[in-house]
Amino acid sequence: MAKSSKDQEHCSFCGAPKAKTQMLISGLEAMICDKCVVQAEQIRQEALGPKPEPEKAKDSPYDKFNLIKPAEMKAFLDEYIIGQDEAKRSISVAVYNHYKRLQYELSKKGKGKDAVEIEKSNMIMVGETGTGKTLIARTIAKILNVPFSIADATVLTEAGYVGEDVESVLSRLLQACDFDVKAAERGIVFIDEIDKIARKGGDNPSITRDVSGEGVQQGLLKLLEGSEINVPPYGGRKHPEQKMLKVDTRNILFICGGAFDGIERIISSRLNKQPIGYKSSGDAYNEIDRKNLLKYVTSPDMRAFGLIPELLGRLPVITFLNPLDEEALRKILTEPKNALVKQYQKLFEMDGVNLEFEEGALDYIVKKAIEFKLGARGLRSICEQVMTDLMFEIPSGKTDNVFVVTEAYAKSKLENIPQNKLKAA
Ligand code: ADP
Repeated sequence: MAKSSKDQEHCSFCGAPKAKTQMLISGLEAMICDKCVVQAEQIRQEALGPKPEPEKAKDSPYDKFNLIKPAEMKAFLDEYIIGQDEAKRSISVAVYNHYKRLQYELSKKGKGKDAVEIEKSNMIMVGETGTGKTLIARTIAKILNVPFSIADATVLTEAGYVGEDVESVLSRLLQACDFDVKAAERGIVFIDEIDKIARKGGDNPSITRDVSGEGVQQGLLKLLEGSEINVPPYGGRKHPEQKMLKVDTRNILFICGGAFDGIERIISSRLNKQPIGYKSSGDAYNEIDRKNLLKYVTSPDMRAFGLIPELLGRLPVITFLNPLDEEALRKILTEPKNALVKQYQKLFEMDGVNLEFEEGALDYIVKKAIEFKLGARGLRSICEQVMTDLMFEIPSGKTDNVFVVTEAYAKSKLENIPQNKLKAA
């Protein structure tokens, strides 16, 4: 036995006593010296070839973000989002400033004692559901190559209540970039339905404190104003043993969105108090566009709606989205880079079928989306209803090489579909 006593310890392979080796590695029943390890490796290489190179640490896909000028960013957004010019412009500027600020902070100039502190430009988008708020935020993140996540304000609750803690907003962002904290720290978080956590009764101080809404707003404030937050990487309270990750939110861009149902009344009563019409950014006095009051939304209106002033103070950029009319919906179907019609055509092309849509069929789909009050969100579910049977049959070669979706065909697929089924789709 090689290890019977300390003095007798020797290599079980070459027999060298411990004193003659640099190192003796002991196994269960035997020992091996450093020289034999080298020799064994040579034998292994001769038999099996060289060891594969150790894998290099993977570069994060978010190592570099693309700083694109506002006009270019807007042009890129134009490829995906129909209309919403004002929103696209102000977001392009705000995002450009945000990331310019980040670049400045990372540079030497930004670290010196003369550094100017540039404030961040978190923003809030007001617009009916399905008008493109999420799509704009998501597309911006794609252009910039930064991590992106969506959070729903309605599921957030104040710590201690049933629901998700506000920190879970950051858990999602971490998950989106494989827990690369550095990347997450310059990501974009879209917080949807921010209007749903408004204080009930607006800024009327006589109303009893509404804990759920205001508490969540206070919680979000902590994230928005920029601080180091302990984040449970997997979110929720289900994994109490998880190790927290520290995330600095100073450079995370928060974009909030909400429909703010009923805010038109607040805007209208404010505008009615103004002496003559509405003063636009130019000098001319314009007539108020009563059909689209959202375009005049200001921070005080949102305060009156029930967002707390501290939170609004952290959301300096405010923009609005127009409701989508028939013309816009029609364009959404066919024009964006990933328009639904183009997607179906690509899918069918893969099965060797040339798919075409009759104008009347497209008009009919748009009409249904409006009738069902589903906006752009509904276009997809309506199209799916129209296309499902075809998509089932085509791969088995049951149709010709060309298929034209006619108005009559679309009608036949939609006629008996109840609205709630489409909504659920
Ligand atoms: P919101 O966040 O305003 O509720 P979304 O951005 O989620 O709405 O829009 C839902 C879907 O409707 C998008 O994924 C997109 O397919 C379509 N859509 C909405 N608005 C537009 C638009 N202006 N241009 C192109 N597509 C749009």
